Amino acid sequence: MKMIVGGQWVDRKETIDVLNPYDGSVVDTVPRGTAADIDEAITLAVEGYQINRHLPAHERIAILKRTAAIMQDRFEELAVTIASEGSKTIREARKEVGRAINTITISAEEARRIDGETIPFDSAEGSENRVGYYYRFPIGVIGAITPFNDPLNLVAHKLGPAIAGGNAVVCKPATVTPLSALKLGECLLEAGLPGKILSIVTGHGHEIGDALVEDSRIRMISFTGGVEAGERIVRHAGLKKIGMELGSNSPVIVMADCDLDQAVESCVSGAFWAVGQNCIGVQRIYIERSVYDTFRDKFVARTKQYKVGRQLDEDTDMGPMITETEAKRVIEWVEEARSQGAELLTGGTREGSLVQPTVMEKMPEGAKLDCQEVFGPVVSLYPVDSLDEAVEKANAVDYGLLGAIFTSRLDNAFYAIEAMDVGGMIVNDSTDYRVDLMPFGGVKKSGLGREGIKFSLMEMTEPKMVCFNLPRRG
Ligand code: NAP
Repeated sequence: MKMIVGGQWVDRKETIDVLNPYDGSVVDTVPRGTAADIDEAITLAVEGYQINRHLPAHERIAILKRTAAIMQDRFEELAVTIASEGSKTIREARKEVGRAINTITISAEEARRIDGETIPFDSAEGSENRVGYYYRFPIGVIGAITPFNDPLNLVAHKLGPAIAGGNAVVCKPATVTPLSALKLGECLLEAGLPGKILSIVTGHGHEIGDALVEDSRIRMISFTGGVEAGERIVRHAGLKKIGMELGSNSPVIVMADCDLDQAVESCVSGAFWAVGQNCIGVQRIYIERSVYDTFRDKFVARTKQYKVGRQLDEDTDMGPMITETEAKRVIEWVEEARSQGAELLTGGTREGSLVQPTVMEKMPEGAKLDCQEVFGPVVSLYPVDSLDEAVEKANAVDYGLLGAIFTSRLDNAFYAIEAMDVGGMIVNDSTDYRVDLMPFGGVKKSGLGREGIKFSLMEMTEPKMVCFNLPRRG
């Protein structure tokens, strides 16, 4: 596919192969964009911003609604694209397409709710004859940088609110999965989005990232990805707004009083969804000791039922990791933990980019799998003697995106909600629960700010205050 610069489809001599991670076959090629392409995209976006900020809200709403309808018409094609360039199975990919359509639809709905409020100026002595209000206006050109693991919906989470809010956007999708992003761009343009409002520039982050991040015409960088790239971007961005949606090693607490079968089913799915390449994927499970053995045996038995293989086969439960290099890294982490005393309950093997779903116990404190983000299909089980101990261990990491607890007791639930250092708590579902309108983001190294369309719109617009000094009558 070509890339999109100011609404135009652009080719370049140098290209990047987009590979199917299952067998390394070439799905398509995209241009290897340069810093000059980013510069041109930003120049056009500055004009695009002037166009979008003056579009009436009903026109933006209509464009986004038409986009959602076009995506619905192209539903299966989008799903096959996700499952060909990325790791997701075709069944997982269809869920992502449904959610991306929802994200764009909610963006259209929220575009009519960007409102303000009046300000009680007369609360300050001497301001009795002032009246005023604030309304929200777009911030300008937004740089959006996205990861590979939800290659359509995470792009929709940036483009939808950016456009709904009246901004222009220059997006740089992950190099391994650019096709889903470009197809979303195609749907937006087909729906009548004025071209200069949108660029999707393909190319390597380490080659073109700085040109986007450092440019002072960009008023906000909205980034989703790993901590390393995130920290680098923060250092380079200069004076602009920053949204950071980073990683985690999500904790789940399982209390003896919960519905154990529900907890097992939900945690297995949450651990191995998208091959564990999921910022809210279940990585650490703290289980009350009295039910530990039962939970472990059921969990391992359910995991062993997983069929690992080609993403596009309807009966595949888990596809390949995004690259063989990543698969090798995950197995190295497993081996490192085993050499430190961890025990393997199932999995721990690899064939090319396919890693078997892996369950471990007796994970030593400080092992990479215990405290870093594995971003792969490995989950560790830990027995605990109390909820306090579970919470303390859940919090003992640098991350804090979502946490979860399975319990039938309200006091347990409320204690965990209060005590967990996370951006969101899920009760009786695993951490891998998300709907697209909820506020989403983390604390500590998991990020800065919140996404979830209404919340992204707050970040992507700013209040403008208006004050009238009214003439006194008579
Ligand atoms: P990544 O390696 O950090 O890459 C993310 C994006 O940043 C890619 O587009 C990448 O481009 C770009 N990038 C890399 N270096 C850059 C630089 N110097 N300047 C500007 N852009 C740069 O992450 P990933 O492997 O794709 O995704 C996995 C990570 O994302 C995990 O840590 C996961 O937890 C996190 N994540 C977080 C959320 C959330 O909402 N909190 C959601 C999903 C994923 P290239 O592809 O060209 O390198």
